[in-house]
Amino acid sequence: MSAIQLSALTKYFGDTQVINSLDLGIGDGELAVFVGPSGCGKSTTLRMIAGLEDPSSGEIWMGNERIDTLPPAKRGIAMVFQSYALYPHCTVRGNLGFALKHAGMARADIEAKVNAVADVLDLTSLMKRYPKELSGGQRQRVAIGRALVREPEVFLFDEPLSNLDAALRVKMRVEILKLHRRLKRTMVYVTHDQVEAMTLADKIVVFNAGSIEQVGKPLDLYAKPANKFVAGFIGSPAMNFFSSGAGALLCPTAAEAANSECGVRPEHLEIRLDGAGLSGCIEVFEHLGNEAFAHVRVGTDLFVVRVNASAQYDYDQPVVLRASPENLHRFSTTTGQRID
Ligand code: ADP
Repeated sequence: MSAIQLSALTKYFGDTQVINSLDLGIGDGELAVFVGPSGCGKSTTLRMIAGLEDPSSGEIWMGNERIDTLPPAKRGIAMVFQSYALYPHCTVRGNLGFALKHAGMARADIEAKVNAVADVLDLTSLMKRYPKELSGGQRQRVAIGRALVREPEVFLFDEPLSNLDAALRVKMRVEILKLHRRLKRTMVYVTHDQVEAMTLADKIVVFNAGSIEQVGKPLDLYAKPANKFVAGFIGSPAMNFFSSGAGALLCPTAAEAANSECGVRPEHLEIRLDGAGLSGCIEVFEHLGNEAFAHVRVGTDLFVVRVNASAQYDYDQPVVLRASPENLHRFSTTTGQRID
């Protein structure tokens, strides 16, 4: 059993509290993604699970065992970092086998394990190369391989793809998904990139300022964000926010929208040249090839609207926006919590 349970987990650096009494369960075999803006405590939480940082208070459990009191090497956890941290003077084979050699494993056993991992990660043809002879993606695969050979119960990834270019990031994301499907091990993955979170996670954990804002499946978070922070963080382009006054014009049947802040996603806005609705004008029009985004100025508000790739609008062209009531999100103006 390698389910992970954090309970009242708290961390201070000096007098500053950076993790505020977290409670979180990650299921056996689940791929959980910690996402949130830079500095919100994702890495610190991951490092506490790994044993690289001591909690100030609270507990960490793996299955039926309390692990926060164990040294890192006894936790059955392997971590993959953003900086690959490969040994430059060792070949790929040497890097993959390093930990096993260090642990005193017999040479033939090391050979067998390293070959098996190289096969999984498509590194077999690169075994004699040194890190400087590898591309960024290949280095990251070796770094993952070094974690794999140790056959850990739990894998932790700390922004492992941040140093790669955009195309390679997408490719490696798919590799990590395939790896997770094959190994069926518990994985915790830290990223500030909500697209990575949406595409990888069984379960997303949204962090903000040392606390958890929401935990859930990607599409549940997208469809029903618990508060304005999650609503604004998950989704690209971001959700549009506006006052309930504008909401009443945008969506007349949402009369109860009074005294709340409203939000609507770019793909849920309908844009017309005339008729009833919220009147504005085109400020910017962006073509992406497969889709396009109209930025519509309405007084002091700017609405981003996803439109058909074949659409064409002129700058300053008057338009009218509308939305269906079921696509309008409402949040308390005082607490930011979702109102249903
Ligand atoms: P994230 O991974 O979400 O970007 P971190 O967990 O790295 O955030 O950091 C959370 C907060 O703790 C930040 O304000 C950061 O500056 C602070 N912090 C992290 N490590 C240390 C440290 N060793 N000493 C003091 N403050 C730290």
